[in-house]
Amino acid sequence: MAKDYYAILGIGQGATQNEVKAAYRRLAREFHPDVRKDDPQADERFKEINEAYYVLGDPDRRSQYDRFGQVGEMPAQGFGDIFSPFDDLFEVFFGRRGRAARARGAEAVGGADLRFDLAISLEEAATGVERTITLPRLETCPVCFGTGRERGGSPETCPTCRGAGELRYAQQTVFGHFTQVVTCRECGGRGTILRHPCPECEGTGRRETTRELTVKVPPGVDDGTRLRLPAEGEGGVRGGGRGDLYVVIRVAPHPTFTREGSDLFTEVPLTMLQAALGDEISVPGLDGAIPVAIPPGTQPGARLRLRDRGMPDLRGGKGDLYVRLRVVIPTDLTPPQRQTLLALADLRGEKVRPQRRSLWKKMKDLLQ
Ligand SMILES: [Zn+2]
Ligand SMILES: [Zn+2]
Repeated sequence: MAKDYYAILGIGQGATQNEVKAAYRRLAREFHPDVRKDDPQADERFKEINEAYYVLGDPDRRSQYDRFGQVGEMPAQGFGDIFSPFDDLFEVFFGRRGRAARARGAEAVGGADLRFDLAISLEEAATGVERTITLPRLETCPVCFGTGRERGGSPETCPTCRGAGELRYAQQTVFGHFTQVVTCRECGGRGTILRHPCPECEGTGRRETTRELTVKVPPGVDDGTRLRLPAEGEGGVRGGGRGDLYVVIRVAPHPTFTREGSDLFTEVPLTMLQAALGDEISVPGLDGAIPVAIPPGTQPGARLRLRDRGMPDLRGGKGDLYVRLRVVIPTDLTPPQRQTLLALADLRGEKVRPQRRSLWKKMKDLLQ
């Protein structure tokens, strides 16, 4: 009869792959023969746990098991050793760091992606702009071409770990006898050392440099827009490719305009008389003044929409410019002007009881 692998790992059939892994790690740590030296059943239990994880830890095998109750192929050598300390159990006990260090070995390592914040004005965002930036970055060493070796030199097997890249220590702990595996310090886990490192980069394969780059900012970028410059990031080592450069656009706030997507917003003052009579005014646009006719009887806060006077859109087309009209009431009427307004009120049949501004000013002073 087929074994119930879910029961062995103590999980339900709906467990996620992460839950499967977590259960396996916990049990493997508990029943590892190195930990339970004096328990004769630990070995059997450990094999069972490994077997269950071999099946359930792999989505393909797991779905096969779920449907047919068994898995076609099982490893011929049994389950005691399929996850040796050099493979998954290494992770179980020491996390991923050790593996990553070993994987660094002599393999190619790609350069990292870089980020550069570029500040531009709203006008530059509207027209597009070309900027030269100075970028500090690691470049693949031109002397050794990123190998880290002096020309003609070759890496030698590390004498400390004999090429394994890691060292194993037997330890007696409260949990019992324990084997600890640590990354070799001498070679940093590579398993090889360079007797003759490249004098230019001291064996690292890279050099710090500053690079001048021209960045073409297309019209219509917004604050936070990311431009990707492929292969302009850090250089790789041992044949690894270059990273990318991401230029993040920072558009400075504008004194006149605010922006929402490709639309612009601004405010223009109108006098009381302009609002009442209508007028031809000029509204500041991003690329110069725009003549606009104000209809008579314009209300305070009325909004004009000037089509295609906003920002260009990255996908083509243009946004609009919205102009809010702010009606300003005069505060500096001369006596004749005041008389004229009173006459106007009379003509319109409005009964106003005008107040003296100087009186209000005095009262305000008193209140304060
Ligand atoms: Zn070099
Ligand atoms: Zn070593």
